[in-house]
Amino acid sequence: MHAEQRAMFDALRTNSDSIKGADLYFIRIDEEGIKLPAGKPYCTICSKMALDLGIKNFILFHKQGIKVYDAREYNNLSFSFED
Ligand SMILES: [Zn+2]
Repeated sequence: MHAEQRAMFDALRTNSDSIKGADLYFIRIDEEGIKLPAGKPYCTICSKMALDLGIKNFILFHKQGIKVYDAREYNNLSFSFED
């Protein structure tokens, strides 16, 4: 299970009233806790789940800085991702 999914299930369990319109932040960290870029949107399981739950924004940490994606935009980008 992906970290994003885990976060969404946790939010469903503990804060289900607040999920609609919420923002989901995604960042990677290495073993030393150093922040690493999240990479491009690619996972359609997580992007679809966020969209279905009514999450407003998917927010990623990129090399260039923080980028805010509307959940629908994020889902479209995930579906059009190619290696
Ligand atoms: Zn995922």
